[in-house]
Amino acid sequence: MRVAVVGGGIAGLSAAFRLAAAGAEPVVLEGSPEIGGKVRQARLGDLTVDVGAEAMLARRPEALDLVEAVGLSADVVAPEPIPSMVWSRGALRALPPTIMGVPSDLAALDASGVLAGPVTSTPLPVPDEDVSVAQFVGDRLGREVVDRLVEPLLGGVYAGHADRLSLRSAAPVISELGPDLLAGAAARAAAPKASGPALVGVRGGVGRVPAAVVAAAGFEVRTGATVRSIRRDGTGWELVVGPTTAPVRERFDAVVMAAPAPAASRLLAEVAPRAAFALAGVDYASMVVVSLLLEGADLPSGTGFLVPPVEPLEIKAATFSSRKWAWLAEAAGGATVLRASIGRAGDTAVLQRDDASLVDLAVADLRSVVEPGGAIGSVTASMVQRWGGGLPQYEVGHRELVRTVLDDVAAVPGLEVCGAAYEGVGIAAVVATGRAAAERTVAG
Ligand SMILES: Cc1cc2nc3c(=O)[nH]c(=O)nc-3n(C[C@H](O)[C@H](O)[C@H](O)COP(=O)(O)OP(=O)(O)OC[C@H]3O[C@@H](n4cnc5c(N)ncnc54)[C@H](O)[C@@H]3O)c2cc1C
Repeated sequence: MRVAVVGGGIAGLSAAFRLAAAGAEPVVLEGSPEIGGKVRQARLGDLTVDVGAEAMLARRPEALDLVEAVGLSADVVAPEPIPSMVWSRGALRALPPTIMGVPSDLAALDASGVLAGPVTSTPLPVPDEDVSVAQFVGDRLGREVVDRLVEPLLGGVYAGHADRLSLRSAAPVISELGPDLLAGAAARAAAPKASGPALVGVRGGVGRVPAAVVAAAGFEVRTGATVRSIRRDGTGWELVVGPTTAPVRERFDAVVMAAPAPAASRLLAEVAPRAAFALAGVDYASMVVVSLLLEGADLPSGTGFLVPPVEPLEIKAATFSSRKWAWLAEAAGGATVLRASIGRAGDTAVLQRDDASLVDLAVADLRSVVEPGGAIGSVTASMVQRWGGGLPQYEVGHRELVRTVLDDVAAVPGLEVCGAAYEGVGIAAVVATGRAAAERTVAG
């Protein structure tokens, strides 16, 4: 069975990997010059660094299963066990323990000074219908918890706004805390946890995974192969692939659509119109990752810091990468590798700036946070990675939207969808959708 996998991000690659393992013949059609999508590496001075995803959830199996299957298990590494910080009310403060921003230790919260005043809890039932994360938490714990704890933590995953993101889809863990959020968070924090780190990386960078998947499975991958259209052709499919000047028609037995929602929506318009219409409603946050190589930096403790959107800074987070990942510290010698992210959903003006001004912006913000007691040092190399349409926004009602897409697609024989737009944006969740799409394809 020849299967066209549209999109060579981690969703498409994991689908192709599974298809090949099941004896099918996947062909990955990737529009850009490189596979991997948001799992990507670039040069920073003499170093190779991750400029998209840099860690994977270890508390669910899919990402680690894939890493193991492609022979990278020995290179899986835990981040250094150093806590993160939050920039709040004019100072860097220890990030108190929370469940996605809901405080689980009031004494630590008070000691941190992240909030101006104490939190009071108003227990309320968990509604049956979906609501925004901000409404749910704000009604129960007040707006300051939303602004200074939930927003930065949610922002770290979705680069979105708690006022729009869905409780059920973007923060289900909060809805599971029950009517009294503080009691629920404290109980959850006290419950026995799986041993080992929640997140892991790969020595040399998570961006090594896409090439390892291709090397391990040996399926066909074509880059620069933008899929222009797909249509049913008897029992199979005809795809138009390649540059507009020289498109090629090609036949396949099945299609796995692993492109992000806007492209998937366009390509599915004729074959699954209800799915296409729903996918057109998935908004994406664009962002920039500025990677810096620094000499003579003297950074505060921690592996980095988050910035609540109520603070007057452009950066929304900074990761002290060479402190977080021992392999990177070793590769960097005495230098410091730091990455700052800029941009949240709806905030596109900042992305219009040129690279040099984005670097200046990041450095200025970092200085204002770090330099009271430390130093940024001098920038010896920088790399600006723009992620237009970087992260899908799971807005209120997302679960129903996904149901509509999956139901409509399920009615079309030989067509499946997967990727970050559906059931989680993290690598593990995305790999799970790719794997499931492959299994449904093979099962027919
Ligand atoms: C800056 C950033 C940091 C992140 N950090 C983390 C992290 O640390 N940990 C984590 O778990 N997750 C992280 N994520 C999220 C995660 O990386 C992504 O959600 C995931 O990699 C998306 O995979 P995907 O395959 O669904 O989509 P993509 O990676 O977007 O891949 C889709 C591919 O489809 C291609 N395509 C589009 N249209 C067509 C077409 N018409 N024809 C052919 N090809 C097409 C695109 O070029 C692209 O390569 C991060 C995301 C970003 C943006």
